[in-house]
Amino acid sequence: MQSTPPQGPLVSIPTPIFVAGHRGMVGRAVVRALQARGYGNILTRSRESLDLLDAGAANDFFARHQPKTVILCAARVGGIHANRSFPTEFMRDNLLIALNVIEAARKHGVTRLLNLGSSCIYPRDAPQPLREDALLTGPLEPTNEAYALAKIAALKLCTYVRRQYGLCYHSAMPTNLYGTGDNYHPEHSHVIPGLLRRFHEAKVSGADSVTIWGTGTPRREFLHADDLAAALLHLLETESPPDVVNIGTGKDIPIRELATLIAETVGFQGRILTNPHMPDGTPRKCLDTGKITALGWSPRIPLKIGLKKTYADFLLESGR
Ligand code: GDP
Repeated sequence: MQSTPPQGPLVSIPTPIFVAGHRGMVGRAVVRALQARGYGNILTRSRESLDLLDAGAANDFFARHQPKTVILCAARVGGIHANRSFPTEFMRDNLLIALNVIEAARKHGVTRLLNLGSSCIYPRDAPQPLREDALLTGPLEPTNEAYALAKIAALKLCTYVRRQYGLCYHSAMPTNLYGTGDNYHPEHSHVIPGLLRRFHEAKVSGADSVTIWGTGTPRREFLHADDLAAALLHLLETESPPDVVNIGTGKDIPIRELATLIAETVGFQGRILTNPHMPDGTPRKCLDTGKITALGWSPRIPLKIGLKKTYADFLLESGR
């Protein structure tokens, strides 16, 4: 149930704006987007100077700097293998970050908070494309259950604060993301950065094949981080958005097809093999984007272009 109707005029985002997690791929894109739209008074803190896992530190920061808006991008994130290997850390860190930030924000006068979730919060077997009201209608995908439960708790906390305290705390559920500043770790990354690296290394070493994880048949939807940032600003500039809004393209492709696109992007001409011993994860994850479309936003960066930009970023980041 939505606590408020989705309509409303565009408003300007109250400042100071605290972007929690500004060094991550999403946080960086959000800061760039805010600056490009002329917003000043943006607060950022590195993990070394503000540990959001520490409730006292979070509270002190909010007491001292009095942000009016929070964009909660800070999170422990990773791909299917990292999520499956470290469920304790994925659940603990994401619960603590959300609880500490949302609670400090509420206590210290933050009037607007946008919490970032994930499309993995929806039940594994929910009807596709995934609508916001599929939440809590069935069991989750086991490979990322710990992360998903933490994200569901954060989303619900925002809904309760909004209902109980009348503060506009709300959540966006992005689909699988990629883009500039991604994590290109060979095992702990998501599929796009992981495969960009693997195909690049295969091209450089002259390998005749690349093996992708799983069967290649699962379908995923991909959104560039700059598109997400634009959608987040649009939501924040909407006076009274719904509690939960999906952000995606509404289009998904099989992983095997994605691998072919990445091979083309990198210029790798060998064979693509699959490894069914690695997990597939959920068979399909594609969001229903009706709500964000009705609010007047749609994505601009086609996957092929986004992959090119991300490959250029990978080459730059890795000094190749
Ligand atoms: P998920 O949406 O939580 O499953 O996120 P991922 O981006 O980690 O994985 C998406 C799909 O890509 C899964 O079916 C993986 O098995 C598949 N995949 C294929 N090769 C890779 C790879 O090298 N890294 C990752 N992370 N996934 C891969």
